[in-house]
Amino acid sequence: MMPRRSWEDDDLVLLRDNARRFFQRECVPHELRWRAQHHAEREIWNKAGAAGLLCASIPEAYGGGGGHFLHEAVICEEQWHGLSYAFSNNVHSGIVAHYLLAYGSEAQKRRWLPGMATGEIVTAIAMTEPGAGTDLQRIRTQARREGDHYVLNGSKIFITNGLHADLVCVAVKTDATAGAKGVSLLMVETKVDGQDRPGFRRGQPLDKIGQKMNDTTELFFDELRVPVENLLGETEGQGFAQLMQQLPRERLIIAVGSVALMRRALDETLAHVRERQVFGAPLMAQQNTRFKLAECETQVQVARAFVDDCIAKLQAGTLDVPTAAMAKWWTTDTCCRVVDECLQFFGGYGFMNEYPIARLYTDVRVGRIYGGANEVMKEIIARSLEKR
Ligand SMILES: Cc1cc2nc3c(=O)[nH]c(=O)nc-3n(C[C@H](O)[C@H](O)[C@H](O)COP(=O)(O)OP(=O)(O)OC[C@H]3O[C@@H](n4cnc5c(N)ncnc54)[C@H](O)[C@@H]3O)c2cc1C
Repeated sequence: MMPRRSWEDDDLVLLRDNARRFFQRECVPHELRWRAQHHAEREIWNKAGAAGLLCASIPEAYGGGGGHFLHEAVICEEQWHGLSYAFSNNVHSGIVAHYLLAYGSEAQKRRWLPGMATGEIVTAIAMTEPGAGTDLQRIRTQARREGDHYVLNGSKIFITNGLHADLVCVAVKTDATAGAKGVSLLMVETKVDGQDRPGFRRGQPLDKIGQKMNDTTELFFDELRVPVENLLGETEGQGFAQLMQQLPRERLIIAVGSVALMRRALDETLAHVRERQVFGAPLMAQQNTRFKLAECETQVQVARAFVDDCIAKLQAGTLDVPTAAMAKWWTTDTCCRVVDECLQFFGGYGFMNEYPIARLYTDVRVGRIYGGANEVMKEIIARSLEKR
């Protein structure tokens, strides 16, 4: 179980309890089936919306929960600790909703946020392309202006929520000659009358080594017409700056989730080593077990303390890009090590997908890759050191 945090007031305790019960009831029983089919059913979004778990940090005026980052952190912790991340609320509520809130016009906010809060609209963010992931300036998806429409051509890869997305925030080139300044964000509505629009196509969920229950897909745009009023921001060419501004928040939510995954790994392992007998005594009695688990618990608590400090900074508006990068790389890296140490205590059972520790082992690996590869995080930190 996730322990109560120092910053949790009664409202957040209630939310945590509500979230935990929701994930236990609506997701845990379906986890293995969702993993096998590589996606959850679409209705999970509507159920999560009805339970008040979507857009928790969006103002009530736009249909959201009226909370702040702490509300999102609590929901994220419970979702990740419960291995219930088949639908990416972090992308939907934590990222796309905040792009709309920060850069959307009043009309855009009123058009999409209320539906996002109920789960009627599922969202995704599409930056990565086959030829450009880390180096986003090199994206090639092009938006050509034709009267009051943009015409989109190109493709995106590894897009979380790609199968169910009704609305996708797509990074496009509005000026192919301008590098970062040619990047814009367009809100693409994928469906008309319940069917994918002409010119828009999505691939089947990709076969990943971990997080198998998330629908991660390719998206294809072929002369797709998007109204110019779907541009995010008042003028073209702001996309790169918009992406950069939101990164600390996005990276912190990955760190929050990573701490929850470490906690789950330790919870699983403690239950196992108390129960499992070796040479006439519980595995917990072995000095190696005690020392290794003491090290793991220390790392989880240190990670949690650092993440809590980052959360306090974010709330105060002082979380800078290098500090968020530290939280992202260190927690995802530590998470992989902690889960690996924990798995060892399960022996052969740790290699069986039936056991949560085995699923955790493959699920956590991507943390070091997405949200900005950890090498890039270190580069950001190093650059800040040069300026000191
Ligand atoms: C499960 C999953 C979900 C994802 N969800 C989304 C999503 O919803 N939306 C989206 O847009 N994208 C998503 N992605 C894409 C993800 O963000 C990219 O995979 C990531 O940014 C890396 O880009 P790339 O795969 O093109 O690797 P590359 O850019 O080719 O990088 C490969 C490796 O090169 C190294 N490297 C790169 N740059 C540097 C550098 N400057 N210094 C040193 N080393 C470097 C790193 O080790 C990196 O891992 C997802 C990916 C996965 C696997």
